[in-house]
Amino acid sequence: VTIEEVTEFCLSRIDSRDGKLGAFLTINPNAKNRARQLDNRRSELSKRSLFYGYPIAIKDNLNIEGLPTTCASRILANHRSIYTATAVSRLLSAGAVVLGKTNMDEFAMGSSTENSAMGITRNPWDHDRVPGGSSGGSAVAVSGGMAPMSLGSDTGGSIRQPAAFCGVLGLKPTYGRISRQGLVAFSSSLDQIGPFAQNPLDALHVTVLLSGHDPLDMTSSTRDPLEMVHDYEKPLKGKVVGIPEEFWGEGMDPQVRESLEKSRELLVKAGMVLKPVRLPSTQYAVNVYYLIATSEAASNLSRFDGIRYGERKTGARDLKELYEKSRGEGFGPEVKRRILLGTFALSAGYQDQYYRKAQKVQALIREEFMRSFSECDLLFAPVTPTPAFRFGEKISDPLSMYLSDIFTISANLAGLPALSTPSFPTSNGLPVGAQLIGPHWSEGVLLKAASVLH
Ligand code: GLN
Repeated sequence: VTIEEVTEFCLSRIDSRDGKLGAFLTINPNAKNRARQLDNRRSELSKRSLFYGYPIAIKDNLNIEGLPTTCASRILANHRSIYTATAVSRLLSAGAVVLGKTNMDEFAMGSSTENSAMGITRNPWDHDRVPGGSSGGSAVAVSGGMAPMSLGSDTGGSIRQPAAFCGVLGLKPTYGRISRQGLVAFSSSLDQIGPFAQNPLDALHVTVLLSGHDPLDMTSSTRDPLEMVHDYEKPLKGKVVGIPEEFWGEGMDPQVRESLEKSRELLVKAGMVLKPVRLPSTQYAVNVYYLIATSEAASNLSRFDGIRYGERKTGARDLKELYEKSRGEGFGPEVKRRILLGTFALSAGYQDQYYRKAQKVQALIREEFMRSFSECDLLFAPVTPTPAFRFGEKISDPLSMYLSDIFTISANLAGLPALSTPSFPTSNGLPVGAQLIGPHWSEGVLLKAASVLH
């Protein structure tokens, strides 16, 4: 088959399915042209890369030159990128074909993609349920059979949670593994780019391709990405899987528990050894996250003021009013809520009480993880307390939405790699995700362990 045929196949799938699902915000008008060009240059380049001609969907907070980058926000509705994110550049250099940009919660704030200013995205398994978020569009692109792979971003669970809800594999790499240059920053100390894939090996290959130092992101690591491949090749037999008590307590839906208990047995069958571990500070993770993430967001989003970035509203009498109108009309309610929270937490007199205290507890959470990894090689946990919920179920109660992130947030706070891989579905056929969390740079081990559950 030609690359053009493969690309056309994906585009026709999008054409026939996405009217209902709503995963894509933009279809790349150059996709077919690019495919044709790649076909013509196939003989010279094809042996160099696994991703030559590979179709991929990209979350709409990653810049791609010439295409819109809206972050699903009204304030960026007409924004076109003037440069390409490093992660996307690496895909393009390897010969990938970008199919389009995917829907998300506005500025990646949310857990259901209901915060998008561009409309909802439906879960392919049950159209009345959310796909999860914030990378809901990227999860549905893969789960709905429209793209074999996609990229998302994960600040507190935004890759793993939608992967769990949609029954695909989602990996949040170690903080610093993949360059964030060109990713619109939400919470810079927590954000990581990662893939949605159909199986662990695809996820491994794309993560290796995207990884490695980038001079344009000072937090990107110089570690050799091929370590992940070596780790993937090592046997799992004898590895110790920690079962963190705090993740397996009350609050987990019985159907999720049943599913995960069956997956846990598969790990044992593969020769791994289970060991109970304790992570007592997990109970503070949501509080800590919503202080740190909102503080950083308030600062990062200050550039969207109608002058530097974002739609400039007309009719303002002075600069202050121009800011107020542009931001007031451009941002949705959840983004405003977070800017207010973050601004409050950072304001004079409150910093020590909130932000610094949150950082101290974050250090504690990190230490507890490190201690647990002196006893085990990786951790096995749920991704979400429940399977995908229905539209409208949580959107009017932000706190209940925040609490649904309880199992994913701590990996971000500790900078650890973590993935969600499909576990056994519930009796009514909804996907359930199993989470594997490992020490820094252990993506290869996690993906290998995921291959046992696949
Ligand atoms: N759901 C979390 C939030 O709303 C995580 C989002 C994310 O990872 N981008 O902040």
